[in-house]
Amino acid sequence: MEELYCQGCGVLIQTSDPQAPGYTPASSLEKENILCKRCFRLKHYNEIQDVAITDDDFLKMVSSIRSANGLVVHVVDIFDVHGSLIKSLPRIVGDNPIVLVGNKVDLLPKSTNKRKLEQWLRSSAKDAGINVKEVCLISSTKGYGMKDLTEVIEEQRKNRDVYIVGTTNVGKSTFINRLIKQSTGYGEVITTSYFPGTTLGFIEIPLDDETSLIDTPGIVNRQQMAHYVSEQDLKLITPNKEIKPRVYQLNSGQTLYFGGLARLDFVKGKRTSFVCYFSNQVPIHRTKLENADELYGQHIGELLSPPDQKTLEVLPELKENAFRLTGGEKTDIVFPGLGWVSVIAEDVTVAAHSPKEVSASIRKSLL
Ligand code: GDP
Repeated sequence: MEELYCQGCGVLIQTSDPQAPGYTPASSLEKENILCKRCFRLKHYNEIQDVAITDDDFLKMVSSIRSANGLVVHVVDIFDVHGSLIKSLPRIVGDNPIVLVGNKVDLLPKSTNKRKLEQWLRSSAKDAGINVKEVCLISSTKGYGMKDLTEVIEEQRKNRDVYIVGTTNVGKSTFINRLIKQSTGYGEVITTSYFPGTTLGFIEIPLDDETSLIDTPGIVNRQQMAHYVSEQDLKLITPNKEIKPRVYQLNSGQTLYFGGLARLDFVKGKRTSFVCYFSNQVPIHRTKLENADELYGQHIGELLSPPDQKTLEVLPELKENAFRLTGGEKTDIVFPGLGWVSVIAEDVTVAAHSPKEVSASIRKSLL
C-alpha cells in the first residue's frame, strides 16, 4: 500500500488496528482528502477519540528537529505558561533559533499592558533556560497579533523551514489553521480540539517552492491539569473568553475553593485582597479555614465542582504547598492549568492545595 497521511493530524494512515493512531476503514482510502477515523469523527461529529501514544514517542518525533536547520516557533498558552513552556526545548531544537509565541491573549483583561507581558514572558523563558530571539503575543481564535507574528517569522526564518512546537492544548492547531487561511485562503486543514494529544504527526505546509511550515506533535506534559479532568470539566476550566478577575478581601484564617480542584488558605497576614484569575465558569467558594476540610469531605463533586464524578475517579489527591510571600511585590500563586491568584506580598503566608501531579507555584505577577 502506498503511504498515505491523514490531512487532519498528519499521522500515517493504516487500516488494520482500529485502536491505534491513523486507523481508517479500507473503504475510505479512495477519498481525496483522507482523514484518519479520529480526525473524521472530530471534524464531522465534534467528538474526540482516545488513541494510545507514549510520551517517549512524542519526544522522539520532535527530537528530529535537532538535526534540521530552521526557525523554531514555540507556542505557549498564556493562561498556563507553567504547563506549556517546554523546559527541554533547547535540548530538543539544538542550535536553531526560537521565537516564543504567547497564545490566547484574548483571555486576559483588555487593560493588560502587552509590552510588560512580553518582557515578562521573555524573562520567564530565560529563567527556564530558554533564550529566545523574539516574543510575540497572539490570539489565534481572534486573530490578534497574527500580522506582526507573520512578519517576525518571515524575518527570522531567513528562507528556512519553520517548525511549530508546543505542548498539547496550547492552540497550536488553531494557530496553524489561521496561518494557512491567511496565506492560502484554504479552509480547515488541521484538526483542533479540546483534548490534549490530538495532533499526532508532522504536517508540512509549503511556504514556497523550497521551504515548509512544519507542524510537530504536541508534547505531553504530565503536569498539565488537562490530563486529570473529564472532557466536560476541561471545557469548564479552559476559559473561552476574557477572564473577569474576582476580588476577595480576606482575613487570615479564610480559605478559597476553586470549584473543588484547588484551594488557597490564607494562613497568616494582615487583611488583604486576593485577585483570582480563573475561567468564569469555575465557581469560587469562600469558607473558614477551620471548616475547609469538612466542606471538602461533604461537598466535593457537588457544591464544590468541578470535579464532576468522572474527574473524581482519576483526580490525584490534593497536596499542600506553603508559601511565605515577602518583599512587597505583586505575586501570583499559580495553579497550573486552572488559573492564578494575585496578591501583594506584604508578609503573607498561604497554603496552596492542588492535585498532586500539578503543584502550585509562585511567580512575579503576570499582570
Ligand atoms: P493544540 O492541541 O495545541 O493543537 O490546541 P488546539 O488548537 O486544539 O486548541 C486547544 C483549545 O484552545 C481549543 O479549545 C481552542 O479553541 C482553544 N484556543 C486555541 N487558540 C485560542 C486562543 O487564541 N484563544 C482562546 N481563548 N482559546 C484558544
